[in-house]
Amino acid sequence: MAYGYWQKMDSLSPQQRHFCMSRIRGKNTKPEMIVRRWLWSQGFRYRINDHRFIGKPDLVLKKWKTVIFVNGCFWHGHAECGRFRLPKSNVQFWQDKISRNQQRDAANYLQYRLNGWQVIVVWECQLLPAVRQQTLQQLTAVLDKIVLSSSSVASASAELEKESSQYLEGEENLSIAAEESPGYNS
Ligand SMILES: [Zn+2]
Repeated sequence: MAYGYWQKMDSLSPQQRHFCMSRIRGKNTKPEMIVRRWLWSQGFRYRINDHRFIGKPDLVLKKWKTVIFVNGCFWHGHAECGRFRLPKSNVQFWQDKISRNQQRDAANYLQYRLNGWQVIVVWECQLLPAVRQQTLQQLTAVLDKIVLSSSSVASASAELEKESSQYLEGEENLSIAAEESPGYNS
């Protein structure tokens, strides 16, 4: 199973691990690249790492008022994740650092939500080969829902416009009929 590769990485020395990671990076399979490529292939268009947005989201889908963060499990302190383990030395330092990151993330997400934006967080561990496809499909499903709900608002207002234009057309027809009716000119 592909997941075994990542488990194996935990038994490597930091140097070996760094080498592994840089090999992976070199092949452009960084977590955010996986998400970008997938969404592009699904027809979504986005901005990347736009610094004008709070917390510099990995992807901004402005049209759908949605930001996507692709978070590393360690730095962002993914609690329910086997990949998040504090180093054995300087425990307090790391604990403080990671919890500051978590608090900052939570504050950022709240800002977006208060402003009517959708926030999607994809964790690095959810993009491991064994679960990647499932995660990406879920991501599309979530985005489809967002698109659908914003286009149902749009189509509701389009319905309204249609109704009022039908009403106008009706009026026009009426006046044409009146012109054509015999006796109008006489
Ligand atoms: Zn994780």
